[in-house]
Amino acid sequence: MDAIGSSRVFEPYVQVIQNANISQYFWDKSLLQPLWDYLRYNHADALRSPLFPVLISVSTYFVSCTLYMILDLMALRCAAVTRYKIHPDQPVTWDNIFKTLWQTGYNHVLFVFPATVAQWYWRPPLPLVEEAPPVSEFLIGIVSCTILFDFQYYIWHVLHHRVRWLYTTFHAIHHEFSAPFSWSTQYLSAWELISLGFWASIDAVLLQCHSLTGFAFMVAVIWISVDDHSGYDFPWALHNVIPFGLWGGTVKHDAHHQKPQYHFAPFFAHWDWLCGTHCDYKRSSAVTQRQSKKRKESET
Ligand SMILES: [Zn+2]
Ligand SMILES: [Zn+2]
Repeated sequence: MDAIGSSRVFEPYVQVIQNANISQYFWDKSLLQPLWDYLRYNHADALRSPLFPVLISVSTYFVSCTLYMILDLMALRCAAVTRYKIHPDQPVTWDNIFKTLWQTGYNHVLFVFPATVAQWYWRPPLPLVEEAPPVSEFLIGIVSCTILFDFQYYIWHVLHHRVRWLYTTFHAIHHEFSAPFSWSTQYLSAWELISLGFWASIDAVLLQCHSLTGFAFMVAVIWISVDDHSGYDFPWALHNVIPFGLWGGTVKHDAHHQKPQYHFAPFFAHWDWLCGTHCDYKRSSAVTQRQSKKRKESET
């Protein structure tokens, strides 16, 4: 117990760094083994509980939304923050925060928690295998799940815009805010929230990923979704770092809220390119200035 207690979780990592054999741990052994051992020995019941995925998603959601909310409050007074906002003229109000929080709480209490508790009766117990996934398999698993989720939501999203009844009944509520902010991420109908939650939990199973990969993918999906709605266009954001505009990010999802017939994909940009549903998008003044400075430098 002591060998895998919390105080010793980091010891193997120190040894790996000291021995400078990280690549071996990336492909063969697992750098994640000490962490997985710690979780299995100390929190096995929690990991097996059907409530655990909900706990992960709700806590990730609240932490990431709160971080962006702090930025929103700072943006009201601080120009250094406002310059990264896509719509600096549309500050986030407390009314909007309470309205979106109410909808999130309503959906979780009335639909998500009952659906999760019902899983106790039919879901087989989660296998907690001894071996942790190698880091390479872990990362490939997360990227593969993200690509699959992106495709599923693209189809769902296009359908819920093109079929009038689906739009008015299930998706229109999410478009009440044309300038999204973090808490508007889950300002959704129960049907949309349950569809998203279903794919976030089933995709790792479909692709036969390790449980640890599945949990990490869930955290990634929530974080990316909140980031998409944050309303910030930082120069270091994924959509500005990943080449060829492959990543959608905040700017493209913001364009969807401004022009709802474009940019349906939640994460990547390829489906919108292939299906001709892409359009121009607005940037923050910080990124625009940076781009024009680079252009001038390359011209001289
Ligand atoms: Zn949205
Ligand atoms: Zn939409």
